[in-house]
Amino acid sequence: MREAFLHGIDLFSPPKKAILRLLAEYASKPEEKEALINLCSAKGERRRGVEIRMHAHCSLTHIAGSKLYMDEIVEEHTGLAELLLDRFPSSKPPFGHLLSVAAPLQPRYFSMANSPLAHPNIIRFAFSVVRYTTAKGKRREGLCTTWLEQLSQHFLNSSSPTTQVHLKIFFRPTRVTHILLHSSTSLTSSSSPQDFVVPQDMSRPIVMVGPGTGVAPFIGFLEHRAALDVKSQGNGDWWLFFGCRHETKDYLYR
Ligand SMILES: Cc1cc2nc3c(=O)[nH]c(=O)nc-3n(C[C@H](O)[C@H](O)[C@H](O)COP(=O)(O)OP(=O)(O)OC[C@H]3O[C@@H](n4cnc5c(N)ncnc54)[C@H](O)[C@@H]3O)c2cc1C
Repeated sequence: MREAFLHGIDLFSPPKKAILRLLAEYASKPEEKEALINLCSAKGERRRGVEIRMHAHCSLTHIAGSKLYMDEIVEEHTGLAELLLDRFPSSKPPFGHLLSVAAPLQPRYFSMANSPLAHPNIIRFAFSVVRYTTAKGKRREGLCTTWLEQLSQHFLNSSSPTTQVHLKIFFRPTRVTHILLHSSTSLTSSSSPQDFVVPQDMSRPIVMVGPGTGVAPFIGFLEHRAALDVKSQGNGDWWLFFGCRHETKDYLYR
């Protein structure tokens, strides 16, 4: 069970209505059950001025239907953990039933920012820590990047250089739907999916646009090109455009 909650179930993304229905089914407090049924109902009339106090810490305006679901769950980025532990604590669905409807935790992808040709045993990547405040003032944090930040702190603060952390990772070649190639004669674009890899023909001029951490794969491209003997193939002009919101925080590669 611990393994499922740690690595299997998505506890922090907005759950589908099927999960809310399940929570409603197992809610022992009538007011929580009713609020949950309202949250997952497809349609309904707005009942003005009626407020249901569900828990000491929270209350929901009783607006039936999808708008309520959008406002309270989707827009507020309310996850299953918060619903079970904080908002609807009387709902105690059996673990097996919960597992059958809960969404699986999705992998997070990060672009390699270095070339395996230059550094065969190293993977570098850049990430932005996701933090934001919802319309109703709740502070939210990205699941994976907050965890990565904690790991990084460990490395940054540690006086011991031998600290090791074991991560489970997998590789997936990135595919993009649009690639712009600027040649001397024309600007061409492709709308069919292509592997997002360093072009074979190094003599072609290339324009790369990578805002924020989107610059990371292009840093890998540049490193790859530097590691190759490009002189033998001709050396096209490569242009990299980068932009960021906060120079002091996001100007990753100067
Ligand atoms: C092919 C590919 C390559 C990628 N490469 C990189 C990379 O190199 N570096 C990198 O940092 N990321 C990269 N990403 C994104 C990365 O995979 C994660 O999605 C991202 O880091 C956030 O993960 P998280 O678990 O921290 O956030 P989550 O817990 O998944 O939260 C993110 C969600 O929070 C919500 N959200 C975020 N900000 C706000 C806001 N301001 N207002 C309202 N809602 C908000 C959105 O619904 C968003 O989907 C890449 C993604 C793909 C698909």
